[in-house]
Parts: sequence; C-alpha cells; structure tokens
Amino acid sequence: MPGSIRLFVEFELAEGGVVSLAEPQAHYLVNVMRRGPGDEVRLFNGRDGEWQARISVARRKNVELILEQQTRPQNVEPDFHLCFALLKRARTDLVVEKASELGVSVIQPVITTRTQADHVNLARLRAIAIEAAEQCERLMVPQILMPVSLAELLAHWPAERRLMLADERRNAPVAAPPAGGLLIGPEGGFTDQELDLARLHPFVTACSLGARILRAETAAIAGLALLLASAPS
Ligand code: SAM
Repeated sequence: MPGSIRLFVEFELAEGGVVSLAEPQAHYLVNVMRRGPGDEVRLFNGRDGEWQARISVARRKNVELILEQQTRPQNVEPDFHLCFALLKRARTDLVVEKASELGVSVIQPVITTRTQADHVNLARLRAIAIEAAEQCERLMVPQILMPVSLAELLAHWPAERRLMLADERRNAPVAAPPAGGLLIGPEGGFTDQELDLARLHPFVTACSLGARILRAETAAIAGLALLLASAPS
C-alpha cells in the first residue's frame, strides 16, 4: 500500500459520505501521486477530525471518494496568534509555512515603519498553510488575516491575551509560555516609537529569543518553538 496521502477539504466529513474533488486536488491524486480506485486517502476539514476515504472514481479532473471511518477525532488546538512585520515574498512564505507547522491558529501580518512589503496574496498564503497542515498531520489550518498596522493590532488586541513582544534590544526574559501571541519586528527592527507604543499596553510582555540577533523569519520560528513546543497538539 503506498504511503497514505492527507488532504484538506472544505466538505463535511461523515461516515458513508461521498467527497468529490476537482482540480488541482484531482490532478495531484491521479497524475502526480498515481492513485486510482481502491486507494486510500485521509481527509480533514478542521471540524470533523480526520477520515479515511477510498477512491471510487479517478479522473484527471475529478476524483470521488467514499468516507469509510474517522481515524482521528477533531482536537482543540492551541489558540495562538503569530503577528509578524511583513517580509518580502519568499520570507513571508517561509514564516507562514513554518508557523503552520508549529501550530499557530492565526497568522496576522503587521505593517510597521520599516516593513519591507505592504500587501499579501491571501490565497497563495492559504495554499501554503494548507499544504503545511497536510504534511505535519494537523487537523486544522491556521487563519491568515489581512495586514494591519501595529497601532491597529494593539488597539484591537484582547486585554486578557498575553502578547510576547520579541525585543532584541532589552535584557528581557527568554520567551516562555503561557502566551496568546508573539509579535516579531521587521528586518530593520521596530522603531523606538513603536516599542514605546507597544510597552504602553499591559498585555505586552517583552521577551528575548536568545543572545544572537536573528533574522526576522528565524525569530518567528524560534519564538514559536519556544512558546508552543509544550502546547498540547
Ligand atoms: N534591530 C535588529 C538589529 O539590530 O539588527 C534588527 C531586527 S531583527 C533582524 C528582526 C526582528 O526579529 C526584531 O524586530 C525582533 O522582533 C526579532 N528578534 C531578532 N533577534 C531577537 C532576539 N535575540 N531576541 C528577541 N527578538 C529578536
């Protein structure tokens, strides 16, 4: 039996249900992974857990699968927001992929004074998050939000949710849970005014990610690893 494939679908998943996949998932299954009738695929939708499904019809543009049994119940994953100053495309893609693998629930791009970009292709980033969730056996896909300014982020941040501000300039304690979010600055760093604005809010806690100055994407990955490694999966 070839290794089982996992696919994220928007459909409801219930025993005996039939799922009909169009392109590009049909193309992926039939032409790329050479799957056909009788082969097993695992499906998840972020709500109904993971289900074992069996291909009943396999065409290049359409694949039908019959849902056989639930293989994993839906779990409640950590509610954790990664807020990061938008980076250039390839590095933003990397942050989205790794944050999805590391278990965040929300990815919030932030526009700061020294941000290197000011817009995102949400559809493309969602596709990256979905592929990462499929690969790392998650049962949900993080939500990716439209970029907001730092001021908007702080103004609308819930007071009861602890936001770890990754601040390489201060002798802050190393990032440690519990926290509900992590804020990473741009390659050029936060401005003094931005740091002062953030520190005005009681829910903001400055944290260090170690003695070295990390690139922004490295900081996001390192910070999430510190804050989420002990979180329940
Ligand atoms: N100000 C930095 C410098 O002196 O080169 C540039 C910013 S750093 C490349 C990008 C972001 O990563 C920072 O704004 C911060 O949020 C985070 N960061 C990098 N290294 C860090 C560290 N050791 N501790 C905490 N945050 C760090």
